[in-house]
Order: sequence, then C-alpha cells, then structure tokens
Amino acid sequence: MTSSSGGSGAADHRGFNTRAIHAGQEADATTGAVVVPIYQTSTYKQDGVGGLRSGYEYSRSANPTRTALEECLAALENGARGLAFASGLAAEDAALRTLCAPGDHVLLPNDAYGGTFRLISRVLSRWGVEHTPVAMHDPAAVAAAMRPNTTVVWIETPTNPLLNVIDIAALAEIGHSQQATVVVDNTFASPYLQQPLALGADVVVHSTTKYLGGHSDVVGGALVAADAELGEQLAFHQNAMGAVSGPFDAWLVLRGIKTLGVRMDRHCANAERIVEFLGEHPAVSTVLYPGLPSHPNHEVAARQMTGFGGMVSFRVRAGEEAALKACELTEVFTLGESLGGVESLIEHPHRMTHASVAGSLLEVPADLIRLSVGIEDIDDLLADLTAALA
Ligand SMILES: *Cc1c(COP(=O)(O)O)cnc(C)c1O
Repeated sequence: MTSSSGGSGAADHRGFNTRAIHAGQEADATTGAVVVPIYQTSTYKQDGVGGLRSGYEYSRSANPTRTALEECLAALENGARGLAFASGLAAEDAALRTLCAPGDHVLLPNDAYGGTFRLISRVLSRWGVEHTPVAMHDPAAVAAAMRPNTTVVWIETPTNPLLNVIDIAALAEIGHSQQATVVVDNTFASPYLQQPLALGADVVVHSTTKYLGGHSDVVGGALVAADAELGEQLAFHQNAMGAVSGPFDAWLVLRGIKTLGVRMDRHCANAERIVEFLGEHPAVSTVLYPGLPSHPNHEVAARQMTGFGGMVSFRVRAGEEAALKACELTEVFTLGESLGGVESLIEHPHRMTHASVAGSLLEVPADLIRLSVGIEDIDDLLADLTAALA
C-alpha cells in the first residue's frame, strides 16, 4: 500500500491464497499493524499546498483501506487495475457508462442477473443505450446478434438461477472481432474458480456482497480491468460518479477475501454432495449444476472453471406449492435472498429474487428452488434437506 493509484502494478506471480492474504496488504509503515487499518477519514493533511503524503487528498478519490482492497482485487483477477464500489450495481453502472454513449448497443445474457437487466433496460435505455438479450450459451446466437454499434458484450457465467454456462473465450473472440469490450460478471464463480481476463475478457465485475465478502455482512462491488488504460478510464468514472466503497466496507471485503480459497473449496465439496443427494431424490425432477456431466454446458464449465461452485438449483416434481413448502421447512438453510456467504440459504426464485421478471423473457420455472450451499457440516445440510423434502 504505497500510493493512492488503486490496484495497479506489476503482475504478482505468487499463489492465489498468498495473494488473497498479502496483495496490497503490507504491514503498516508507521505502526507495523499486520492488518490494514480502517482509515475512517474523509480528508488528509497536506505538507504545503499540493504536498500530498502518498497521493492521498480526499477519500472519494482514494482511501488507503480501499487502495489495499483494490490492489488485492487486481492481483486475484490478474488485472492491471482494481476498483472498489459501494455495490455490485454501482460497479456495473460505472463500467457501462464508461463504455457506452447514446446510440451504442449492449448484448447481455437472456437470463442475466435481474438488477443488471433492470439497469440496462430501464435506466441506460433512457440515455439512448440499446440492448439485446441473447441465449449466450450459444456462441452462434451471439455472433448473429452483434451489430455495428455493439460496444459491449456483457457476460455472466454461471447464470442465476438457471446456472447456464457461457464460453468466455469464444465470446471474447466474437466481441473483439468487432472492437466490442467484453465484460464478465464473475460473481458466481469468484476469481478462485474462474479467471475471465486470462480467457480474453477485458473487464471483470463482482458483487463483492457475495463470495468475495463471504459473510453476508457487507454490500460492495468491484471492477478489474485487464489493461491499465481502460483501468484509468474506469477510475476516472469511479471518482467522477462517486459510488465508492467506504473504508469499513472495503475492510470487511478485504477480510473476507483472505479465506476465499478455503471457503470455495468447502462450498464446492458441500455442493457436490448435495447435487448427488438431490439427483437420487424421488421428489426432485431436475438438478441444475455445471459440475454434472448431464449439464448442457458441462464441457465448457470443465474447461474454464477449476471447480463448479456452491450454487445449486433444482426443480421439484410436485410443482410450485411443494417448492414453496420445502423453502419454508428447512432449518439450517435460511430462507433468504443473496448468496455466497458461509451460511446456507434457500430461496424460491420465481416468487423472490426473480419475481420482477415474471411474465418476461427472463421468467424462471415456478417449481425451481435455488440453494446457496454454505460451509456448514455436510451431514447437517443433508439432514435438513431430507426433512424438508419428505
Ligand atoms: C448480487 C449480484 C449483482 C448485484 O450486486 P449488488 O452488490 O447487490 O449491487 C450483480 N451480479 C450478480 C451475478 C449478483 O449475484
């Protein structure tokens, strides 16, 4: 943590967990504090007019706690620049308004995160930005939907809650063939399981509210740019638009990140056991999980992910009422929205997270249940599901 320039610098070749614990987080120069302090300050004393200490001037522009997080994020995604925002949607807004002007066109998945779809279709559309939702697990459909004014190919993989998998490398090639910027929402996989920049993407987006924070105690967002020049443009918009992460929120995300690797290993292991259990359960008609060989995009997932994650969706044979009942009967799985925390969550997308898209192209089946599998003891999770589905 040596300057206010955000997450930038030479490539860090240390292992993932070492970077998670140390990147941007050298011991405090003054006190030796091992953990980056929460710099709860809005402004900084100048040594004479313009005489900034380490470049800090005002905390919207830069704050040392946020700098530490931004450097760590850049190191985890192997990008040139990391930026931390007040929420995932604030990060998305900054990215889209950096990359789009009136008359530009955005391609996005036809099962994109509802908030992303709302931002593009109801906010940016008022500023003359056009969009087309596409079944992005089919690269040919993406190639066919590209227009001369397509400036952004917005990818999200795996998708929520249907867990479709999109081929990042194939779409990066299609997007770049027409000079579009390729953005990947990497929230569901986390940088531990998927490295979009290495697959050719230009920008990674995160809701750090989810796996990066990991403890359901903070709302935050992030951007990581592969290239320093685009990183600089994003940083300009971050400061000009102002939706930055506060120091305490940045600190919580930074603390969460330290255990990301071990948490993801456990999320994946627990999810695999639950997928196996659900696959054999008579009340369950379909299990949606990228790790299943029967998943339509399993081959792509196996190629571009190093694990299949902690999100599992499934459909129950007896229909919507049975799905609602099961959501209300679990005791270890908490009924709630969001995902990616240490505690297991269960929800009914049709009535909860995806209620706003009922009747639209993004509508999800009413017999669908989504699990965010936590890191509790697997026997307790299996017993809980057994009782709820009985
Ligand atoms: C939650 C989420 C977002 C939005 O992030 P917020 O932090 O809630 O603003 C974006 N994309 C995905 C995939 C998400 O799950």
